[in-house]
Amino acid sequence: MPIVKAKNGVYCDTCRDKWGYVKGDDGRTVPHPKGSRQAYSTLISETHTGKEPVIRSLCYPCMDEASRWHDGTIWTLAEQVQYAKDNRKLQQIKIGGF
Ligand SMILES: [Zn+2]
Repeated sequence: MPIVKAKNGVYCDTCRDKWGYVKGDDGRTVPHPKGSRQAYSTLISETHTGKEPVIRSLCYPCMDEASRWHDGTIWTLAEQVQYAKDNRKLQQIKIGGF
């Protein structure tokens, strides 16, 4: 489940989910301007065999948010990924808020 640097022009999935889509001037549906934020990292999580990997891209603030847990502790995505790897048998560990 590697974390790679997001490619140029790849937007943050979390921001897009947060802001959704709007109708542009020409009537086409476009992502909300605030939701079009260049992603910082892309997370590729291999799911069960035979399925397409789940790919999420996150901008820096969203990564930061995903590292912050409700009790205030910081658990970075890299550490979460490592934990998920170490606990493969447990499966279905939530990474960030996904
Ligand atoms: Zn974001």
